[in-house]
Amino acid sequence: MGRLRRSRAHHARRDVHRAARTRVRGRDLDQIQFHDLDPKRRAELESQPLDLERPGLAQHYCVECAKYYETDAALNSHWRSKVHKRRCKQLKEEPYTIEESERAAGLGREDRKPRVLPVMEDVVLAT
Ligand SMILES: [Zn+2]
Repeated sequence: MGRLRRSRAHHARRDVHRAARTRVRGRDLDQIQFHDLDPKRRAELESQPLDLERPGLAQHYCVECAKYYETDAALNSHWRSKVHKRRCKQLKEEPYTIEESERAAGLGREDRKPRVLPVMEDVVLAT
């Protein structure tokens, strides 16, 4: 018989279990977008005081990935890595908000965002 399974059935989404656990919870993408990427906060995070509890005494921090590195070399090679680039791409997308979920459930508040689609207006006028 020929080949039954198609190739490339797996995605590179590893560590789904680690992403779901709460014991060592990382920062969420929207937290990073709304708070950490702010230039003032970013400078604060990049020059943290010495912390014995953190890897590398909290001196090498990647803001986008919310991750500490041991050395400058490790941080630099991380910035060139696929993981970091993928993360930057994710951060450029619009974060998922409560408003968006309400709009999806049909609970949108039209008085705040008066953007009615033209197609929808036609439907209302026809009936
Ligand atoms: Zn990074």
